[in-house]
Amino acid sequence: MATIPDAGHRWRCGHCGNLTRFDVVRRARTREYWHVDLAGEPEVEGTETLEEHVEDVLCRWCGNGDRIEVIPRPEPGHEGDIPHDVGGV
Ligand SMILES: [Zn+2]
Repeated sequence: MATIPDAGHRWRCGHCGNLTRFDVVRRARTREYWHVDLAGEPEVEGTETLEEHVEDVLCRWCGNGDRIEVIPRPEPGHEGDIPHDVGGV
């Protein structure tokens, strides 16, 4: 099972180096605040995640999910270390 990187980390695809685009399959248990209007139409006005599991992370570029690594994010002021073409359009 994959883990979501914390504030100091990010995902990286070990196959192609992708840092920015992933397909994430996630199962979450949530509590929602449903506000139902007088006509009976519900609207979700708040969502609280009680529990979540990331089941799968796949690279959008090469489609692989077996080498998704968690790496440290760049230190503040070192963003220039990342090539500008990473991320695509
Ligand atoms: Zn990849």
